[in-house]
Amino acid sequence: MTEKSPKLRGALDGIPTYKPGKPAAADGPTAFKLSSNENPYPPLAGVLETATAAAASFNRYPDMACTALMAELAERFDVPPEHLATGTGSVGVAQQLVQSTAGPGDEVMYAWRSFEAYPIISQISGATSVRVPLTDGEVHDLDAMADAVTERTRLIFVCNPNNPTGTVVGRDGLTRFLDRVPNDVLVVLDEAYIEFIRDEQVPNGIELYRERPNVCVLRTFSKAYGLAGLRVGFAIAHEPVAAALRKTAVPFGVSQLAQDAAVASLRSEDALRERVEALVGERARVSEALAGQGWTVPTSQANFVWLRLGERTVDFAAACEAAGVVVRPFPGEGVRVTIGEDEANDIFLRVAEEFRKEL
Ligand SMILES: *Cc1c(COP(=O)(O)O)cnc(C)c1O
Repeated sequence: MTEKSPKLRGALDGIPTYKPGKPAAADGPTAFKLSSNENPYPPLAGVLETATAAAASFNRYPDMACTALMAELAERFDVPPEHLATGTGSVGVAQQLVQSTAGPGDEVMYAWRSFEAYPIISQISGATSVRVPLTDGEVHDLDAMADAVTERTRLIFVCNPNNPTGTVVGRDGLTRFLDRVPNDVLVVLDEAYIEFIRDEQVPNGIELYRERPNVCVLRTFSKAYGLAGLRVGFAIAHEPVAAALRKTAVPFGVSQLAQDAAVASLRSEDALRERVEALVGERARVSEALAGQGWTVPTSQANFVWLRLGERTVDFAAACEAAGVVVRPFPGEGVRVTIGEDEANDIFLRVAEEFRKEL
């Protein structure tokens, strides 16, 4: 027998692997993980209880239609349940959106640098990625993106606020952009961090979805809601996009723990809002301190800040790690640092101050 390995799709060659944020060192006296934009607060007591109760029946498959969660979301956002689709995190839903719209010969467009899942899921589909550089201010260049649309463009991601730069696009710019994009191109507004936005120029994507059949809004329970480990996100989209999401969903993808915890979180929003408010306060404190140290930091509307360090990126990340905080380096470009526990933010600021003096 000749040695042969199973034939895999050529599209998989060279797919960048998703780099998860590095965990904090287990042995350090103070080790904080500021590398994955997670919520630093432990689960709310009520939410934890609900999830624990759901665990008692994990010998059973979950409710495949996510009935209770869909009903809760439909009411909260005043959208028909048929326009909602849940998935294994919003990355799971994003992958279904790409699968539903783009294959070989088609183009998926997004800003760059932006969320690192976009190139991966585009390539898995066999689609061609079209990356449009951010402006000098680290913001989506929506004019350039509209200019880059071709007859092969099928889907455009707009990450608002943008991961990893934290920058936003406002209502006027986004509306102008949407007016220029052909109606048969799906525009996905990835609003993973919307709860952290305080800039009133930024629209809620759901407003834009209501008037535009080609706009889809992506949301997640992983960040502000603190359910990253449970993997649940959702999209709001018109038909036939929502129907496509139902077709491409992995059956039983969202566990009952995740469904029940998401419902409990939506019902505990006051408590969650307080935590988000505290993180937004910390974001202001960190941003001001960095500016005071002489750093140019793009205004962040998310739960992280971005330092463009270029060739010093890896050194800076190593200095942070040595001091007890793990950050997310993008070698040659910059470092993304999650707003975490106050103590962790203080450690990061001390490293930044020392590093600044050497630059
Ligand atoms: C974290 C993040 C998500 C959410 O991912 P989940 O799969 O829901 O955990 C989606 N989009 C962006 C831009 C993110 O940063």
